Amino acid sequence: EPDPTLRPEARPEDADRALRPQSLDEFIGQADARANLKIFIESAKMRGEAMDHALFHGPPGLGKTTLAQIMARELGVNFRMTSGPVLAKAGDLAAILTNLEARDVLFIDEIHRLNPVVEEVLYPALEDYELDLVIGEGPAARTVRIELQPFTLVGATTRLGLLTTPLRDRFGIPTRLQFYTVEELNEIVTRGARLLGVPADPEGAREIAKRARGTPRIAGRLLRRVLDFAVVEGDGRITQSIADGALTRLGVDHLGLDGADRRYLRLVAENYAGGPVGIETLSAALSESRDALEEVIEPFLLQQGLIQRTPRGRMLAQKAWSHLGMAAPKAPGQ
Ligand code: ADP
Repeated sequence: EPDPTLRPEARPEDADRALRPQSLDEFIGQADARANLKIFIESAKMRGEAMDHALFHGPPGLGKTTLAQIMARELGVNFRMTSGPVLAKAGDLAAILTNLEARDVLFIDEIHRLNPVVEEVLYPALEDYELDLVIGEGPAARTVRIELQPFTLVGATTRLGLLTTPLRDRFGIPTRLQFYTVEELNEIVTRGARLLGVPADPEGAREIAKRARGTPRIAGRLLRRVLDFAVVEGDGRITQSIADGALTRLGVDHLGLDGADRRYLRLVAENYAGGPVGIETLSAALSESRDALEEVIEPFLLQQGLIQRTPRGRMLAQKAWSHLGMAAPKAPGQ
């Protein structure tokens, strides 16, 4: 069974926080997004206005929350954080919005899971910094308009496709976060080791970077786990052989795939001859929610060229067959 704490969507622990970059300059990778944000932050500061609303989308663990926190810090304003599922009623959102100070950053994680009623309340708040609240019920009900301080909403989502169009359209700065390169992750691991005060050989750091599934959150977790092995089974130094041994025992293979990823690939190979196979079928066979497959597992497999999405379903690419050590079946008639 895959270790759930190593999954990219497994959520914060204090561990994450210690490695969190605090400024845009400390933030590694996402060069395009970073360069643009720098301009928008600078301009908002020079004009003394709230920065435009920003939407960060991409798989979990790539730095959406971190970037939103950095924005607030660089803008010199408060950072408030909530999430779509937590905002159950219009009043929950109203309470947060009316407490914002001028130009604050409000971060809403999983914004695709906002209740439609709450979303309606959000529209005028985003456009005109106004809230229309209904007070009372029945014939006595009336609407009161409340003026808000100008603020910046930063929405985060792993599922851009699930956002309603009107909500999407209200973000002036839509930003897609990408998986990190091995080079970037290598910098992140090296920086993390330095922050944790752990001696790490360059080859040891690189081994972790190569197997971090393109994801800084995983890089941080793997670093801590490898450190445990280095302390107990080595002399405390992270070497390539300690890293390789530790990661293999943690079920992380040379491409950075974990048990859940391999189970997916093996199922398509062994039960469906490489596909195409539909997402619902995969979800049932793997006992994983369709969301988990689409948000977490598939993006990395697609990015790595291990699977392809076709109109008839998912198919294994040649690279997946090689990785599994299996021969691809010949197409009929070949
Ligand atoms: P998301 O909100 O996209 O799920 P987070 O912002 O919570 O991701 O990032 C997860 C963790 O990964 C952070 O706590 C931080 O330690 C680390 N991290 C993210 N992006 C970077 C980066 N660019 N450089 C270094 N560490 C990062």
